[in-house]
Amino acid sequence: MRAKRSLGQNFLVGSHYPRRIVDSVAPQAGETIIEIGPGQGALTGLLVETGARVIAIELDPDLIPHLSQSFSDCEHFRLVEADALRVDYCELIAPDASARVVANLPYYISTPIMQRLIEHRRCLSEMTLMLQREVVERITASPGGKEYGFLSVLAQFYCEVEKLFDVPPGAFRPAPKVYSSALRLRARARTAAVKDEVLLIELTKVLFAQRRKTILNNLRAGWGKLGLADASGIFGPLSASGLDPRRRAETLSIEEIARLADAITVSRA
Ligand code: SAM
Repeated sequence: MRAKRSLGQNFLVGSHYPRRIVDSVAPQAGETIIEIGPGQGALTGLLVETGARVIAIELDPDLIPHLSQSFSDCEHFRLVEADALRVDYCELIAPDASARVVANLPYYISTPIMQRLIEHRRCLSEMTLMLQREVVERITASPGGKEYGFLSVLAQFYCEVEKLFDVPPGAFRPAPKVYSSALRLRARARTAAVKDEVLLIELTKVLFAQRRKTILNNLRAGWGKLGLADASGIFGPLSASGLDPRRRAETLSIEEIARLADAITVSRA
């Protein structure tokens, strides 16, 4: 079957990388594992062999018959034809209260899927994802470098992040143009308290909107998105959080961004 570029179909071939991914997850018999985008089943077969309860979510109707047939005699496998961006993961895994996720993600939606998984972190304790290497570098970046930005703050605020290993283009058919990397995200038991999580995400987008500008200039340009009355409304929160307005966003730690978000929330009240 021809791979559909529109659905980000780059299938893993051979057994080396599928095995490495599944070994790094080490599924336990009986636990629930969600696989997003099983495709032709490269990871699915190995996951099912472990005795874990596997729930696979696939959007492409053309892949469904082959997948259902391949695992038809397996009681602990369930195939769900759905869009992974719309699934309610906590409902899907019932009666279990917690599951882990494994996915060689379609790159065209990797950021929104990661965002959705993080939103469901109360029932998703860990996610092992294959993404473009460049995206993994951004997710795992520390403050101070050019890779550090919206994705780093979003992922690291909620999760512990760990790059596992690189995967070359030749491991897929068709081969993508770039390297991929496997990444592990572990939901933090406790995230730093922030009064308004939606504001934290908006603020991070505003701060990094133009990386070469100071945070003051970005905040002045984005005051409307932060629910402030006007551009001058940013001075109070900046001073309350003790941040030098001449800094650039890439120098801010996640705690500093959270502190500024809280100061904005207080000033809006
Ligand atoms: N897991 C397989 C592998 O490693 O060979 C396939 C990975 S392929 C990169 C991505 C898979 O995600 C494809 O099977 C594609 O049809 C599926 N997919 C794309 N968009 C999706 C979505 N919104 N929800 C669920 N599956 C999706």
